[in-house]
Amino acid sequence: METIYQRMGAEELAAAIAALEAEVAEVTAKGLKLDMARGKPSPEQVAISRPLLDVLSSSADLMDEGVDCSNYGCFEGIPSARRLAGSFLGVPAGQTIVLGSSSLNIMQSVLVHYWEKGVPGYTPWRKLESVKFLCPVPGYDRHFGLTQDLGIENIPVRMTPTGPDMDEVERLVAEDSSIKGMFCVPKYSNPTGITYSDETVRRLATMKCAAPDFRIVWDNAYCVHDLTDHGDKLLNIHDVALEAGNEDRVLEFASTSKITFPGAGVAFFGSSFANMAEVSRTLQVGLISANKLNQLAHARFLPTMDALHAHMAKHAEFLRPRFALVQEKLRDGLGETGCATWTNPNGGYFVSFDSQPGSAKRIVALCLQMGVKLTPAGATWPYGIDPEDTNIRIAPTYPSLEELGAALDILVLATKLVCAQLASE
Ligand code: PLP
Repeated sequence: METIYQRMGAEELAAAIAALEAEVAEVTAKGLKLDMARGKPSPEQVAISRPLLDVLSSSADLMDEGVDCSNYGCFEGIPSARRLAGSFLGVPAGQTIVLGSSSLNIMQSVLVHYWEKGVPGYTPWRKLESVKFLCPVPGYDRHFGLTQDLGIENIPVRMTPTGPDMDEVERLVAEDSSIKGMFCVPKYSNPTGITYSDETVRRLATMKCAAPDFRIVWDNAYCVHDLTDHGDKLLNIHDVALEAGNEDRVLEFASTSKITFPGAGVAFFGSSFANMAEVSRTLQVGLISANKLNQLAHARFLPTMDALHAHMAKHAEFLRPRFALVQEKLRDGLGETGCATWTNPNGGYFVSFDSQPGSAKRIVALCLQMGVKLTPAGATWPYGIDPEDTNIRIAPTYPSLEELGAALDILVLATKLVCAQLASE
């Protein structure tokens, strides 16, 4: 896309750059300290879950349908929490495991298990000459870190408005048996906020894979994180996979990190019965039982999906004005400039922002100079390398509205100056 700066004559462009540089100097002198990097709820937002802390007391009944939550046992999770997990993940409760407190931690354990011991019936991944994972981009840096840490090669695949580029995914997995899996954040993807279309879900569940031990890490971290009552709808991948005989392909994860307390909630795993049993056997080697008291508190605090949705509606009240402000500031500041495009999600925690090729690192650095910390440019790509250097992840949830507005004004200013400079180079 051509920017307004590329259309300017040399003199007009030089004047525009001088004016923008003056503005940058003025803002820099203010010595601001703002943070738009953190994908976490604001303190006021977290506080809405405080009543959960009152659910259990020294006199509370600590039994859950015959399970004593105050003692060892019941590895897969207490019955009421597994029912919640089942509704969450779209599988029967008996195909879930409830652990605490991080879904990322379970993902790592499962991937390390396949690396060390292999998917049952197949060669351990560590014994293979080459193991690759597909990574939709822009995507979640911590996913890419899990596979990178094991020595698995991360292969980027472009996101489209309906999910990963499925023509490319199908082509790659059909021809290369060293591609053993793929990361997916199917609803309100991090950072684009895109929800996979029904067709994308169907193709993922049914596509022909050269590797019989191909696995999809279906990270449904934002499955109930709608900004309005009319959130995106995601097709149940387990149903489609089961019909196609591929029920072992999908490993689903979620947690209450952005529902109750980040890092202090409960985490969910759901898959085929065979996968659930096998993952359970493996994890039990190193864990006698998870924190069932926390499971009990969560299950009593969020006893039904209706209660959960009502709780999420309270979160949405905090999030809606922040996401609206992002759209307003970017539209007003950059809408007519051709300098950037950005997503407008119906939920989740992020907005994905793309500027001119070769601009993202410079924009992030200039924002930092003006006192705004952003997620490092490149973080949304495997190995931190965004080949065109365009993508920036905007995390609008943590700052106050006032701070967010100031940070977005600075992002707009930095984007304009970098684009103007690029036009003059
Ligand atoms: N998955 C995605 C897509 C995330 O964005 C995050 C946190 O930002 C996580 C997982 C981390 O979840 P947990 O706290 O359950 O480990």
